[in-house]
This record gives sequence, structure tokens and C-alpha cells, in this order.
Amino acid sequence: MLGATGSVGGSTLDLVGRTPHVFKVVALTAQRSVEALAECASRHHAEVAVIADASQYNALKERLSGSGIEVAAGASGLIEAAERPADCVMAGISGAAGLGPTMAAVRQGRRVALANKECLVSAGEIFMEAVRRAGTELLPVDSEHSAVFQVLATAEPDAIERIILTGSGGPFRTWATDRLARATPEEALRHPNWSMGRKISIDSATLMNKGLELIEAYHLFPVEADQLDVVVHPQQIIHALVAYRDGSMLAQLACPDMRTPIAVSLAWPMRMDAPTKRLDLVDIGQMNFERPNEQRFQALGLARQAMQRGGMAPAVLNAANEVAVEAFLGKRLGFLQIAQLVAETLELAEAKGLLGEATDLDGVLAADASARRLALNVLRKERLPPVH
Ligand code: NDP
Repeated sequence: MLGATGSVGGSTLDLVGRTPHVFKVVALTAQRSVEALAECASRHHAEVAVIADASQYNALKERLSGSGIEVAAGASGLIEAAERPADCVMAGISGAAGLGPTMAAVRQGRRVALANKECLVSAGEIFMEAVRRAGTELLPVDSEHSAVFQVLATAEPDAIERIILTGSGGPFRTWATDRLARATPEEALRHPNWSMGRKISIDSATLMNKGLELIEAYHLFPVEADQLDVVVHPQQIIHALVAYRDGSMLAQLACPDMRTPIAVSLAWPMRMDAPTKRLDLVDIGQMNFERPNEQRFQALGLARQAMQRGGMAPAVLNAANEVAVEAFLGKRLGFLQIAQLVAETLELAEAKGLLGEATDLDGVLAADASARRLALNVLRKERLPPVH
């Protein structure tokens, strides 16, 4: 489990802990949450616990001394954990930091349950080529992609007309632009349906998350960019739909709880129990759908353009967005300026010729690093005023 102390990590370990006779935990990793990692590693009898921040190695070693659990640290520790013999690697690190370890698991031919979006957003072609070359089974964990994966399983690819990803519209779905300009991190973190990590919660509020999901879907499924749509569905009961050329539309429904798509990926092609709320359609009564408002939520359009532009545009979009979200959470940037910073970074990167194709992971990581520098420069130079 890469990213054991996060939101996806917690949901995964919750499922694993309910069936200890079925699952054996090999490795658990975190960035710097020593106490949480040590607690998970002890509870789940992991073979090894890895802390990415090497300065925390001694603290983790001390905390786990006498437990028999191996301790490792740093980037090499993460790669070694990802390469250990295991039936499945859950990729739940957030951000571009997940690229290296997830790619290491793919290259070993491990079955990978993929929550980390950045592998596909930033390095889509390279990642999918590595998956094909290694013959790895890739199981999407993001709820929309898990939904498509489940609905597609029985169909021929060229029968697909469209794939529609749904989104709740986030906590600000009905807010006017002037109110959005004053939105605070605390308000943005209050997602109506899902409980998630901080970064993805902000992305859900800007709709960048839906944009990143379009790019993920483009790489995962056999469709062109113009066959992918987004529909706002505030109840978040339907997670995605696939429209076929005979007029049929198939959907996957579930109460919004990440343990369902995680259970799908852990048990596939079988099914396992998940202690989630069961769907009662009569209780729900009504489901609503609307088009996303791309005037108020410009991040979605930016992501779509980056997907169509291809090359390093999605990697630059993602890196600039990570910088912007961090600045928003630190109250150094207003909510609407998140998309503004991403757009300016993309323009600068295009002007500097940074959006061409990368041939390997190092090229992607270099584009990611350049984009972060550009975004930080824009942030510093323009002194975009915080609005709260
Ligand atoms: P969280 O922020 O809750 O957790 C992130 C995990 O990754 C933590 O274990 C964290 O360790 C670790 N981590 C963070 N940065 C690094 C780093 N630089 N090096 C090594 N480890 C690191 O994220 P989520 O669980 O919300 O999301 C994980 C991924 O899954 C993201 O890519 C997200 O987009 C995707 N996803 C999440 C969903 C959700 O419902 N949460 C839904 C669908 C996809 P530490 O605790 O020490 O910081």
C-alpha cells in the first residue's frame, strides 16, 4: 500500500483489516506521518514500513523497534517497497511523487490498483506503454473510472460511442462568481458527498478533479478525447455511464464511498464484501443532472485543452495546479486564481517550448519541475492578491 496513511490508504486498510485471513500486508508507506504509519504497520503486521522523508527514519525505527517490522526511508525505500513480491500494489500516494514507485510496481509486472491520478495525467503514454510492455493488470480505483471499468467489462471497445463521467459539482456548484472569489480553504474542503484528502478536495471544488479524470479516462479506455463528457450529478449515485452505438447506456451506481471501488480493485474479477451503505433508490427518490458551468469553473476547460494539446501540457497543468492548490490552502492565492495561475503557467510553458513530447519518466519529471518553477515565479512576481 503506497500512501497508507492517506484517505485511500485508510479505506483500503479498513477493508483489508476486516478480512485478515484473505489479505497479507507486505509493505506500507507514508511521506512523514511517523505515528500513523507505525500504528498501521503494527496493526496489519506489515513486513516493512517506509517513510519517504528520510529525516524521519530514526523516529520510525525507534517507534517500531522490537516489532520485527523492517524500516526503510527515502525515494529508494519507496521503490524497493513497490518492487517487493506481492499480488497487488495499491497506488495511493498523492501527487507526482506517486509516479516513480507506481512505475516501479508496473515494471515488476505487479497488478496495480491505481488511485494516484498523476501517473496517467502527467505520464499517460509512457505509463500505459510500460503497463503494456510488462503485461501488468491495471485496475482503476478512482470511482468514475472504476465505474467505467465495470460497465465496459462485457463490451467490444469499438461499440462505445461516449463515456460520461459524473461529478457532484463540488461544494460551490451553485455559488455566483463574486462569492467564489471570496471562497476560503475551509469552505472548499467541505465536500458535499465524499471524505477525501485535502488536495483532491480542493480539486473537486474547482472542478480540476473532473478535468484530471477526463485525462485519466482518455488513457485508460479505448476512446478519443471528443468521446469523453462530464455531467454534474449532485447526488453522486451514478459514477459514470457508457453509451453504446446501439443506443444503450450502461451506468454503475453505488452510495458514494471509496471502499466500493477499492473493493472492486482488490477482489477483481471476484467481488468482496464492503461495509458501505446500501443504495435504496426509493429513499433517494430523485436524481438530477446538469451541464458543468465552465465559465465559473475554468479549470475543467483548461484540463480539456491540455488533454487535446497532448505532449507535456497535462503534466504542466497538473504541476501548476499542485502549486496553486498549495498556495490556496496557505491563503496566498484566491479560489478563482487557482485556474488563473494554471492558465498563465501553461501559456509560459508553451512560449518556452516546454510542452513537447517526453520519451521517458525523467522527461516527465523534468517538465513537472519546470512547470512548478514557472508557477512559483508567476505567484511571486504577479503577487496575485489573496482574497480572504
Ligand atoms: P491523502 O493526502 O489523503 O494521502 C496521501 C498519501 O500519500 C499519504 O499516505 C501521504 O503520506 C503520502 N504522500 C504524500 N506525499 C508523498 C510524497 N511526496 N512521497 C511519498 N508519500 C507521499 O491523499 P488521498 O488518499 O486523498 O489521494 C491519494 C491519491 O488517490 C491521489 O492521487 C488522489 O487524486 C487519488 N484519489 C483519491 C480519492 C479519495 O477519495 N481520496 C478518490 C480517487 C482518487 P503522509 O500521511 O505522511 O503525508
